[in-house]
Amino acid sequence: MVFIQIIFVVFVLLGLMMLSVRAQDKKPEEKPAVSSETMKSMSRGDIQRALKKIETNTAPLQKMGAMCYKVAMPAIHLEYICPFDGEKTMYSSESRAYGLVKEAQGIRGLVKELGSLVKGLSFFLDEKKLCSKCFPDLADPDRKMALVVKYADGTFVRTDGISSQDIRYLIGFFSGGLSYKTDNDGQEPLKTVEPRLKELLGEK
Ligand SMILES: [Zn+2]
Repeated sequence: MVFIQIIFVVFVLLGLMMLSVRAQDKKPEEKPAVSSETMKSMSRGDIQRALKKIETNTAPLQKMGAMCYKVAMPAIHLEYICPFDGEKTMYSSESRAYGLVKEAQGIRGLVKELGSLVKGLSFFLDEKKLCSKCFPDLADPDRKMALVVKYADGTFVRTDGISSQDIRYLIGFFSGGLSYKTDNDGQEPLKTVEPRLKELLGEK
């Protein structure tokens, strides 16, 4: 009887050991998002040095992203809601700003991500030209978004007519790399878009 009890205890112990091994196999927790303590502060000089790095380094190889095959749907109208005053503006798929309106939510998210990457400068998205109340008399080709980059010294650079790509260049740049991530998870060298990057940062 004692023998059977010992065998039972051994089995229970073995079971517990296996469970603890399983627990150790578990992947460690995901890294927390960038906190303000780990955020880099960048001065104008730092930015100029980082741009020089892109210029002088060999462009990293590009990585093709996944190809996306979308079924073309005849989208007729899209409603744009101005975050400033809540006004609704309708955009037809024939309008030039249609693509931009469709991307608006994504662009806002990218600008937010950009702002969390770096200290010492801030980024603002100006969407007012998409709103029929903020800008009632604007021709369709002039309905654009603008990005304002504000430096710690109070100077700012405003670029009218930005796209999600522009924000992706800046995210790549402020992530300290030589590449940027495309919307389909590919990697492209920043070197090929350097003139635009400089324009967005107000560097000639
Ligand atoms: Zn508005």
